[in-house]
This record gives sequence, structure tokens and C-alpha cells, in this order.
Amino acid sequence: MQTTSQLPDTLRFQPTDQYKFAIIVAGLSCLIFALLTIPEGALSLGFLAIVVFAIFVAPRMSLTLPRSKFFISFSESIVFFAFLVYGGETAIVVAFIETFANCIFLMRNSGLSGKWVILWNSALGSLVATFVFVAFTFTSKAYGGSVALSDTRNLIIVLGVLAITHFLATSLLVSFYRRIKTEGASLWQIWKKECLSTSMAQLTGAGLAGVIYKLINYADPLVMAVAAAVVGVFYLSYRQSIRDINSAFEQVEEAEREKAEAERQRAEAERTRRVEAEEFANQLSVALAKEEQANKALRKSERDFQHAALHDSLTTLANRKQFGDVLRRLITDYKVDPSNEFQVLFLDIRSFKNINDTLGHTIGDKVLAIAAKRFVRMLDTKDTVARIGGDEFAIILRGLGSTAKAEKVARRIYQNITQPFSLSGNSITVDINIGIAPCDVEYDTPEEILRDADIAMHYAKEKGNGLAVFTKELRSRFLERVRFEMDLRHAIDRNELILHYQPIISLQDGQLIGFEALIRWHHSEFGLIPPSKFIPIAEDSGLIKPITVWILEEASRQLVRWQGLAPDYRSLIVSVNISGKHLGDNDLIDDVQRALEISKIDPSTLKLEITESAAMESPDHTVNMLHRLKQVGVQLSIDDFGTGYSSLSHLHKLPFDTLKIDRSFVYSVGAAGENSEILQTIISLAKNLKMRVVAEGIETASQLALLQTLGCDYGQGFLLAKPKPREETETLLYQRPSWLPEDPLVAYTEHISEPADAHLPVF
Ligand code: C2E
Ligand code: MG
Ligand code: MG
Repeated sequence: MQTTSQLPDTLRFQPTDQYKFAIIVAGLSCLIFALLTIPEGALSLGFLAIVVFAIFVAPRMSLTLPRSKFFISFSESIVFFAFLVYGGETAIVVAFIETFANCIFLMRNSGLSGKWVILWNSALGSLVATFVFVAFTFTSKAYGGSVALSDTRNLIIVLGVLAITHFLATSLLVSFYRRIKTEGASLWQIWKKECLSTSMAQLTGAGLAGVIYKLINYADPLVMAVAAAVVGVFYLSYRQSIRDINSAFEQVEEAEREKAEAERQRAEAERTRRVEAEEFANQLSVALAKEEQANKALRKSERDFQHAALHDSLTTLANRKQFGDVLRRLITDYKVDPSNEFQVLFLDIRSFKNINDTLGHTIGDKVLAIAAKRFVRMLDTKDTVARIGGDEFAIILRGLGSTAKAEKVARRIYQNITQPFSLSGNSITVDINIGIAPCDVEYDTPEEILRDADIAMHYAKEKGNGLAVFTKELRSRFLERVRFEMDLRHAIDRNELILHYQPIISLQDGQLIGFEALIRWHHSEFGLIPPSKFIPIAEDSGLIKPITVWILEEASRQLVRWQGLAPDYRSLIVSVNISGKHLGDNDLIDDVQRALEISKIDPSTLKLEITESAAMESPDHTVNMLHRLKQVGVQLSIDDFGTGYSSLSHLHKLPFDTLKIDRSFVYSVGAAGENSEILQTIISLAKNLKMRVVAEGIETASQLALLQTLGCDYGQGFLLAKPKPREETETLLYQRPSWLPEDPLVAYTEHISEPADAHLPVF
């Protein structure tokens, strides 16, 4: 079975409900009692009028005093009036009906709602009326059983008892209810706060009931009519003025509400503005912080940029720009005061390309960084070191007093930098050339003094001793060389380059094997220039490639013509010298193929001569290149053998067909065959490597005889035939001379008439 405490809240019977229930039971009991005991005489037209008034008029006539809890109601008046006229039982019934009607009116008009609200209020009304009835009964008893209400004093006392009892009963019952409902507040507080104000209603109600009672019972109809009119007018005007006051209050309240709303909106707007201002301030400070950061980054990148603009990223040394700036200042200072002398050193790392090619660019970079550090270590803080190109450095020495001292410093730098060091397991030796240019009043720009230091450096490179001081002679020599280079550039177009052909003869049977094509330059001013004078310039300037292309095509074209002169010339070969610079270039294959295509010669009749030093400069690349050339079908010859420090391990990997002994070995052989051991060794080496041997520079009969004895295959030399132009060579082909001389002495003396080159400029 379910107990009350276990019921859900909605079903549980609350204390307020219990209280209401008790009031309803008590009120309804009182009502029933009143209905049962109501005197018969009470049920009259007057009673009906009271009931009608209670139902339809009284609820509509209550007045609430503006801005107070006091209100004037006709409910009490009607109850008290019924009391005075028809007795307590009637008043109980009227109280019930009036409250019932009032509740319905309020439900419709004022939104009154709640559980049992009509019943509980109506019962409460009849219960209170019962208390009033009891109090009246006691009062009557005090008057000896009946009170003469015609006496105004008695009427006032009775009405006072009725009003006070009604007020006390109502207020106490309601306060109890509130006390049960509201936990915490005391009964006294509730009564004082919520019920005291209702006393007014009872008092005015009682007063009004008394007045009406008096008028009905004791006044004549005119007085009654006047009183009713006065009361009516008074009521209506009072009601109107209350309405006006209420409306004024409402307007004031509306105005206050509007003011409060405006105030609230202003405060809200103010708050929004403040929030926005704070937000803006925050954003501003964030933006400022960001801007500050951006400025910082900008300043840093500006600094970095400036540093990068003036420094070399690899070595962190000054770059050409900064070096130029310093130099410009020094040139100006020197012109003002010659005691501010200085020297400029131009340093170039020799064969740095080889380091890059063989050990890779990473090592190459490290080598440059190490070199830079070494330079800095060896110099004074007032000196300036810069990297002004790939493997080029420059130094400004200050306050030394003389060029000789600058030379000493340069020598020290040279000795230090050429000390070998180890890097990633490789022993590396850096070799450099240094040119020194002392300051001079004739210099106006940094470029001029750097150019002269560069000229000195080139001279040091040529001489091979690592160091040179600039002189005016070096400059004119340099300028001549520059001019010479320019002339060479136009030499092909102007048909100034020609080929001479030197026969190569079989030493065993004197048969003509072919020719070596040797270039000559017919300079318009200097006459015939030998290759030793201009090939290095062509190599330095890169002109060697177009020149070689021309030689390959020219020599091949020539050969095909000569091969066609006679059946036994069909297998003649032509040897073309290939520079080491060209060998390092993959275009060589195409250049050779093009020459073969143009001339249509058998590829095996074209022989390429590569000097031993060029072949050994970069052996791995050479092996690769030579094999590719072999695939084209041409023959290969190693030239000037014996001068290039061949590594035998490399030599046997290189697919050479022929080995050409350098003429210095032939030359050193004495008339009686002395110093022939090296020749002998080279010849047997070549044979072991399955190569044919050519000896060049054969000038004497004894050399020829020795070479024949040693089993040398072919020979080339002034004794046999000098290099001759195309026409003369062709004449020889027609003449078919005996290539091995019958009178060696006569043949040799001919070569003395080779053009002298003493008149040529010295480069
Ligand atoms: P090389 O390739 O060893 O050429 C042989 C050189 O020896 C030629 O000098 C030739 O005239 C010279 N010669 C031949 N027989 C004798 C002799 O019995 N006695 C003496 N004293 N000399 C003799 P040349 O023509 O002055 O050429 C010198 C070097 O210039 C050549 O040496 C070669 O390395 C280079 N050269 C010549 N022509 C060319 C060319 O077309 N291209 C390239 N890259 N280099 C060339
Ligand atoms: Mg040669
Ligand atoms: Mg040679």
C-alpha cells in the first residue's frame, strides 16, 4: 500500500491544501447551517435585491486607492447590511454568494486562477461571516439579548464589532494560510505586512452599511433619494478622480518606465561603447604590437639585407661591393694625404675547378671557407679581406710603408695557404697566385687598381711562381694580349688561320702513314704566329673550341681530297690536336661527328691527339670521353708522352691506339745513341699496352737509326718532313718523295729556315 510520503509531488496533499480543505469544509458547513436556519421572513424581495446587488454590482464597484494596499469594497458593506437587516444566517449566505460572484468576476477580468480558488474563497467568506455572527451574538448578549439599532450609538458599536471581527477573522485565517505557504516568516510579520491594510475595507464597508441602514429605516424618501444621489455622485466622482489619479500615476509610471528604459538603453549604449572602446583599444594594442614586431622583423631583415648586400654568404667576408666602397675611400684619402698608402692583393686559387670537379661542390665550398679563415687569421684588423668572385679573393693591406713589405706579407700568405690540410678524409693542397698593386695617384676608381692587381696575378700565374707585383710594363703586355685575343676572335672569319701538315712516316718501310695538322695564324701585323704563342690565349678565352671545330672540318675535308688522289693514299690519316679544355666538354663528340659527316671520311682515318698532361688532368672524365670517342670510330693518340706524369694504372684504362713520344726524349739522345734507355722503356711500354709508337722531333739520322733499331713504328720530324701548307703538302703527295732521307744532313739543315718569332709580342 502506498503512503502519502511515497506519493509523487503532484498527488501529494500539501499542508496548504489541507488548510484550504479544512476551510472549505468549515465554510460549507457554516453555509449549510445558515441555509437551514435562515429565518423565513428573511427571504424577501429586499433579500433578493441584496443577492442581485452582491452578484452583479458589488464586484464591479470595489475601488483601490492609488499606490496603496487599501481598497474600498462594497462586498463587506453588502454582508454587513444583510446582517443588520436580515440577521447573521442571511449574512453568511450573502457572504458566500458575494465572494463567489466576486471570484468569477475577477477570474474573467483580472486573470484570477488556482486550485479550488472559488470554493475556498467563498467558503472563507461564509466562515468569516459565521465568526462575525458569533461575535454579534455575544455582543447582543452583552446588551441583554437584543440591541436597539435605532440608536445610532448602538449601531456604531455593533458595526464596529462586526467590522473588527470580520477584519480579525479574515486577516488571521489568511495569515495562517500565508504562514503555511511561506516558510520562515512569522505570523505577526505576515499579518502586519499583508493583512493590516485590509482593515480599511471592513471599516468603510461597515460605515457604508450603517449609513444605508440608517437611510432606509429612518429617512423619508426624499432624503433617501438625495442621499442616494449624493452617494452616487460622490462615488462616481470619487471613482473618476481615482481613475484620473490612477491614470496620472500610470502616465508618471509610464514616463518613469520610459525614462528608465531610456536610461537603460543609454547605459547599454554606454556599456556597448565602452566594450567597443575596450575592444578597439585591445585591437589597437595588438595591432601596435604586431606593427612593432613587423618593424623589428623589417629592421632585422634590413640589417640582414644590408649585411647580405655587403658580404659573401659562404665565407662571411666582405663582398666585391663592400670591398669597392672601402677601396674608394682609401683612394680619396691617399690623394689627400700620400702617407695613407695601401696595397691591393688579388688572389686566385689555382685549378679550383678541379677541386669542385673531383671532390664535389660541398668540399669546394669548404675549401673556400677555410682559405678565407686563413687569410683573415694572417692579417691585421685594419686590413680588409673580400671574396670578389668564385675562387677570387682580394685584400687591402694598410700602413705597411712599402711595396716590399706588402710582398713579404703576400709571401707569408702564400706559404700559409699552400700548406696541405685534411678535409672529409681528403688531403687537400690549395695553390694560389697573388698579384700586388700598390696605391698610386693615377687611380680614380677601385676597378682600376683591382684590374692592375689582377694583371699582376695573371703574370704570376704564367710565371708559375705564385707572386707578382704590378708594373706599367705588365699593363701594356696585358693590353697587347687583350688586343691579341680580340684579333684571334676574328681570325677565323678573316681566314687568317691556316693548317700546316707534317707527314708521319713508317720508320720500318718509309711509307707515308698520314699527317699531323698543325695550326698557324697569319696575323696581318705580326705575320705567321706559331701555335705555342696563341693556343694558350685561345684556351684561356674559350676560343679554342670554335678554332678546333674549324680545324676538324678543314683537316677532314683536306684528307678526303688527298685520300682520293691515289689508291695507296686511301688509308691516309690526319691527326688533329685536341686541347685539354675541349676534352672536358661534351660537345667534342658532336663536333667530331659533324666533321666526319661533312667530309664523309672513314672515321678510323681521323686521329685525335691528346697531350698526356691533358689526359691525366681529370682521368675519370678522360676515360669516359675517350671511350665515347672510340665509339664514334676515330683513332686516339696520347701526345707528348713522358711529360705528363702518367699514372700507369690510369694509362692502361685509356683506349689510346697510338703513343707519341715527346720530342725531348728523342732530342736528348746523343749521336752515339746515349740516353736511349727512356726511349727504349717507353717503346716497350707502348708495345705492352698494345699501342703503336710514334716518335716526334726526329732531327738527326742517328735518332732515326736508333728509333728504327728500337722498333719504333712511326716517326715525325724535320729530318723526315717539316710541317707545310696545304698546297705544298699536296705537291709532295704528287711528287711521292722518298720519306726516309737518303742524305740526312741535308734534310735536317732545312728546318733552320723555320720562321723566327722574335718580332712577336711577349705574352
Ligand atoms: P705537338 O702536337 O707535339 O706538335 C708537334 C710540334 O713539334 C709542332 O710544333 C711541330 O712543328 C714540331 N716539330 C715537328 N718535328 C720537329 C722537329 O724535328 N724538331 C722540332 N724542334 N720541332 C718539331 P708546332 O706546330 O709549333 O706546334 C706546337 C704545339 O702546338 C703542338 O705540339 C701542339 O701541342 C700545339 N698545336 C699545334 N697545332 C695545334 C692545333 O691545331 N690544336 C691544338 N690544340 N694544338 C696545336
Ligand atoms: Mg700533336
Ligand atoms: Mg707532341
